[in-house]
Amino acid sequence: MKPARIAMTARSPGRWLGALSFQQQLSLAVVLGVLCTTLLASVASAWQASRLTRLNLMQQGLRVTASLAQQSRLALLTSTAENAGEAVRTTLAFPDVLRVEVYLADGRLLVAKGPAVPTAAPAQEASPEQREDPYLLDEGSDTWRFAADVWFMADNTSPYDVTEIKSERMGQVQVVLSKATLTQTRTNIFMVNVLSSLVIAVLFLGLMRLVSARLTRPLNDLSRAMRRAEQGEVDVRTEPRGPSDLQHMSQAFNQMMAALQERGEELQRHRDHLEELVRDRTIELQHAKERAEVASQAKTDFLARMSHELRTPLNAIMGYAQIMQMDRSLNSRQQHILRTIYDSGDHLLKLIVDILDLSRIEAGKTELAPVACQLTRLVAMLDDVLRIKAAEKRLTFLVLSDDNVPAHVMVDEGRLRQVLLNLLGNALKFTAQGQVLLKVRVVAASSPADTARLRFEVDDTGPGIAPSDQARIFEPFEQAGDSRSRSAGTGLGLAISRSLVRLMGGELQLVSREGRGSCFWFELDLPVCGSGPVAVPAASRPGHITGYAGPRRRILIADDVLANRQVLIAMLQPLGFDTVEAIHGQEALDQVKAVAPDLVLMDLTMPVLDGLQAMKRLREDPATRALPIIAITANASTQHREEAQGAGASDFISKPFDCNDLLTKMGRLLDLNWVTTAPQETGLQHSLP
Ligand code: ADP
Repeated sequence: MKPARIAMTARSPGRWLGALSFQQQLSLAVVLGVLCTTLLASVASAWQASRLTRLNLMQQGLRVTASLAQQSRLALLTSTAENAGEAVRTTLAFPDVLRVEVYLADGRLLVAKGPAVPTAAPAQEASPEQREDPYLLDEGSDTWRFAADVWFMADNTSPYDVTEIKSERMGQVQVVLSKATLTQTRTNIFMVNVLSSLVIAVLFLGLMRLVSARLTRPLNDLSRAMRRAEQGEVDVRTEPRGPSDLQHMSQAFNQMMAALQERGEELQRHRDHLEELVRDRTIELQHAKERAEVASQAKTDFLARMSHELRTPLNAIMGYAQIMQMDRSLNSRQQHILRTIYDSGDHLLKLIVDILDLSRIEAGKTELAPVACQLTRLVAMLDDVLRIKAAEKRLTFLVLSDDNVPAHVMVDEGRLRQVLLNLLGNALKFTAQGQVLLKVRVVAASSPADTARLRFEVDDTGPGIAPSDQARIFEPFEQAGDSRSRSAGTGLGLAISRSLVRLMGGELQLVSREGRGSCFWFELDLPVCGSGPVAVPAASRPGHITGYAGPRRRILIADDVLANRQVLIAMLQPLGFDTVEAIHGQEALDQVKAVAPDLVLMDLTMPVLDGLQAMKRLREDPATRALPIIAITANASTQHREEAQGAGASDFISKPFDCNDLLTKMGRLLDLNWVTTAPQETGLQHSLP
């Protein structure tokens, strides 16, 4: 309890005042002010009035005393009290005169009338000097005692009489005057003043309440309206009244609320329409998306068709170039011309493949197929392929792989190889002297080591790339430098590589200084895994094939395009194969039944019955279930390869096909023993992608 009381008593006046309303504070201030002022004024005026009354009363007392002294002369001269009787009565009749005393010259009391009033005045005796005027002899708390000496004056009637006039003191009169009038006057004035102060204070208070009510009512209205507005009401308005400032405030509040209401209504209207807008916009976007998808699909389809259409004539060009290169009777100039034809076809093919690849990546149709990849084997393969090219240009080619690089990681091996081959191919292409490096190292390994961040880096000492070209060369069809100095190339390799690295979760970066070389690098987070399926060693390339040992084999060639059939026939017949032709799938089925071929080369796109359907039928028939079929298609995508395998193809080659590749696969399926001469450096040594 105690602390609470302390807290209450310790409450500061400021806080206490703060708890009062504005009106109460104003009233309190006015009442206190008026009371203090009027009280001060009352005290001051009472003091002034009592001072004047006191002076008046004292003068009156002096006059009365002087008059008594005058009238008491005879009585004092004769020393008889009766002679003073009339004067004493007259004096006592004056207001406030309490007592009258007449003394003889020797101090004896001659007459005394009125109640005795004690005095501290000295005994009455003659003063040394002649004192003619009355004076205040003594003042008590309730009375004044006035005295006047009475003198005898000898009359000097003759102006010639030179004798000194003798005055003689005859006695003294004393008059005691009451202060009652003075006290009464003082009290009256004070009381009147206090009363009038109170009346004025009450009047002021009333006035104040009126004024403050005029002030606070609109303020209270405004604050109530604000509280309602705060709670969410928007149609709140206040009536402008009271002093002009408050009216302005009220008007400003009303304007603010009107603006808020308008904005709220506008918002509401928007909200109402928003759903409609969103629906319309969604439909629009949906249409735009569909249009874009249709356009993108059309582009992809067009490219795929173009690719297919271009591959067919290319197949004939490259096929015949390969067949003619097998002719040992050609001189070196003819060999060179054939090689140029083959290389140009190869370049055209790469362009087609790259364009198709990029369009598929951009359309989001490229999916990664991660497998357990043996990094050391991948690196060794790159080393094998590129060392020869480097040696041709007298460049040093080094592969630096850190010891802690995991043996196996999950990655789309084909795509990783494609990126590295492209970067290394560029490095070798553009570097005239010095070296090309492939570095593979672990940047960070997680613990436990289930993923590793690997950094792949291709460095060269080539011409470098100008800063202004460094971003551009990653765009499709862009090459560094001006158009005259540009090298042969499609300008697609880096665009594809960048997209593939992004698909794999990294970013292809470039650091290069002109004249000092270039460094292309990227980092990938790759899951570390145990050893994957053991890789089938690549079939050894036959040398220059001239035929095969054993009985003649019959090959059925099913293709609707005459040129394609003719290339294959021209390729196979000189090696000792019998060939049979079919121009669509149905004819192929009939021919299988009729001639019982040892192997079928089946094009997938054919009229009447396509290659896939034909293969499915052959696989359904127990008699041909094991017949070796090599699917041939101009569509080189993984999807087509998978479809062909699903339909029962024993193997797959894409157009334009590599002669060696075809013969290698045929040899494996028919278990052939090739008759060869030593391999020679011809277009046949170039494998197609
Ligand atoms: P391409 O090599 O077929 O022209 P790329 O997309 O692979 O297409 O390369 C684009 C361009 O980038 C090249 O034409 C070349 O100007 C520049 N470039 C790429 N790699 C290098 C490199 N290692 N050194 C110098 N310039 C390079």
